[in-house]
Amino acid sequence: MVGKFKPAVLPSSDQGGPAWWFIFSGHKLLVKMESGLQGIPVLRDGPQEVGLEPLRYHFLGSLDGEACYSAEVPEGIDPPPGMLFSGLRSLFDSLDGTLYRVAVVAVQVVDWDRMHQFCGRCGERTEYKEGVRAKECPRCGLISFPRISPAVIVAVERDEKLLLARANRFPTAFYSVLAGFVEPGETLEETVAREVKEEVGLELTNIRYFGSQPWPFPDSLMIGFTAQYAGGEICIDETEIVEAGWFGPDELPLLPGKISIARQLIDSFLERHRKEASHIR
Ligand SMILES: [Zn+2]
Repeated sequence: MVGKFKPAVLPSSDQGGPAWWFIFSGHKLLVKMESGLQGIPVLRDGPQEVGLEPLRYHFLGSLDGEACYSAEVPEGIDPPPGMLFSGLRSLFDSLDGTLYRVAVVAVQVVDWDRMHQFCGRCGERTEYKEGVRAKECPRCGLISFPRISPAVIVAVERDEKLLLARANRFPTAFYSVLAGFVEPGETLEETVAREVKEEVGLELTNIRYFGSQPWPFPDSLMIGFTAQYAGGEICIDETEIVEAGWFGPDELPLLPGKISIARQLIDSFLERHRKEASHIR
């Protein structure tokens, strides 16, 4: 187990020793393959120590006093011996929870830096702004921070059943709660109501905050809600949804993996209703 992560923009003067390196090629993270156990390389001399030349790198903060860095290497490059580049989703189960958390920070910093090489307003090459995680245009002064795109996700209940839908975009045939991106000018509650209306044609009431989760695929912050059904009949938007329906605690279909807040919403529904059921017995 590793300790707590303390984010920072610049290393302290005594942080010259070995450091954790979160090295990305595209969106894939470099991990070690030691007898099946995967981990983040700890390097004294940075990526060059394993023969990789970083395009760009950033200090991210400290883990138990040891420095953490993100770095980007070219896409399609071969990993060093005994290591591989792996997608973040598939590392969720094998990587320590804190290391996974830092990897989520790292991929977003790498992505932001890659996509803000030039000013979005005037096209000039950007420069790093001192002391903050930001890039500044030397010509027009535009400042770009790492982008975070808020999205809502909502568990809708009706008579002890949960609304689940199978979306077109899901790679496998699992069902989940509904989600969608926040649009300019909306409150989060308005997004929840609009998405559910658009995707399945239902009205909601009692929209309540549940929790949130950084979701770096590529730059979302998922904001979870619960809500109660208030009216309407299910009428799916076929451009987004394949199928939707109400499911009781004992009739759930294939569900999303434990990594997501979607699953936490579903598990919370199950826990509540199983408890209620055991009270009645
Ligand atoms: Zn500019």
